[in-house]
Amino acid sequence: MHNRRAVVVGAGVAGLASAIVLSKLGWRVALLERRERLRGDNLGMLLWVSGVRALRALGIDATLDAGGTPVNRFELRAEERVEGSFTSAVLGADDGTPSVMVHHAVLYETLVSHLGRDVEVYPATQVSRIDLVDLAAGDATRRWDADLVIAADGIDSPTREVVAKGAPTVDAGVVAFRATIPAHRAPERDSDAVEMYGPDRRRFGYGDLGQAGACWWATVPGGMRPESPQIQHELINRWFADWPSPVGKYIAATRPSELTQQAVRFVWPMPSSLHYSDGNHGVVLMGDAAHGVAPILAQGGSLALEDAVTLGWALRRSPESIPDALHAYERARLARIRRVARLSRRAHVIASGGPGVTRGLLRAVPDTWLSNRATSLSDWQPPRLSSAHADSGRRG
Ligand SMILES: Cc1cc2nc3c(=O)[nH]c(=O)nc-3n(C[C@H](O)[C@H](O)[C@H](O)COP(=O)(O)OP(=O)(O)OC[C@H]3O[C@@H](n4cnc5c(N)ncnc54)[C@H](O)[C@@H]3O)c2cc1C
Repeated sequence: MHNRRAVVVGAGVAGLASAIVLSKLGWRVALLERRERLRGDNLGMLLWVSGVRALRALGIDATLDAGGTPVNRFELRAEERVEGSFTSAVLGADDGTPSVMVHHAVLYETLVSHLGRDVEVYPATQVSRIDLVDLAAGDATRRWDADLVIAADGIDSPTREVVAKGAPTVDAGVVAFRATIPAHRAPERDSDAVEMYGPDRRRFGYGDLGQAGACWWATVPGGMRPESPQIQHELINRWFADWPSPVGKYIAATRPSELTQQAVRFVWPMPSSLHYSDGNHGVVLMGDAAHGVAPILAQGGSLALEDAVTLGWALRRSPESIPDALHAYERARLARIRRVARLSRRAHVIASGGPGVTRGLLRAVPDTWLSNRATSLSDWQPPRLSSAHADSGRRG
């Protein structure tokens, strides 16, 4: 296995985690990223316990290494009332592993610092072709031959259409604004994390990032706004002017330059396949390139990490055969990503029904129903090799 070459397209969470996994298995890895610098975003994100477990399988502690803050309670509110909450019983695991809020840039840096020496990073490299006959990926002028190409190039990945036709992206009909506020300016903390539902499909959430400060996120109906950050900040102020405290405090504490605007889209239906193989080489989809789920349940980052860990398991299980490994990866992932995608899409549709629908449903469903759904999101465990496969892996 020592001379196997992998090309990873895209250095997001999925691409970095895949490069870490492959280099640990002794592969030579070329990591191709179109951006000029490898750098995370100034955003907070919730990493569910499954993502925390996947990070641990990569040798990274979400709290100690990536600066994550445990979330023991995540409240869902309409007006000032708490309509439901996910508590540590659901957000965490029996073994004490918590879900965490992490600063994306800190998580990103941690992943970069875990890249092995055999990973060659090529920033400012926009991959424009993947040659399936003599497997390789290339930009306008260069070409990287490979035994395995990992398409981790995000939700707009052209490779998804090649591997599995008929898995388009759907516009969610809302746009998201997110910001991170440094600790010295952050409003006083009233909960680990909160999400509020208001009129017109508007949502506002906030969370504690510990030493990294606090973060908030908001969605409003419509598409991407063309205005300057200054005007966007004023608009957000207006859209959420009559919302209960502390919404206004979070917006007021934010500088326009700290705002990030993001389109909200998701892949639907899910791809029927996650890989292509021929001879003893192949192409595999990872992260948003494979499944880009609706972000309302904050699952995308965790799924991307789970994908990478599962690919590592599959390659250890079938060290001699890339096609066998990719089949095993696909078998292990498809049911899970379909379930998470279905739940995420359903939650998006419910939240799109307006506050009356959301509030009514939150009141109507028993806590146990919410808990069961949330548990089914977080119950993923890194796959383990059977003793027979572990032995053959050692021989291989
Ligand atoms: C509003 C919103 C809120 C979210 N909140 C959360 C949350 O709280 N928790 C959570 O877990 N997830 C959340 N997500 C989802 C999460 O951000 C994504 O699922 C995750 O970042 C996917 O990582 P990825 O590596 O697959 O893709 P990306 O992060 O999109 O990375 C793809 C990389 O590929 C590069 N690339 C693209 N094309 C090329 C090319 N041709 N050549 C070379 N490089 C290329 C890109 O520059 C990029 O670096 C949220 C998403 C949104 C939109």
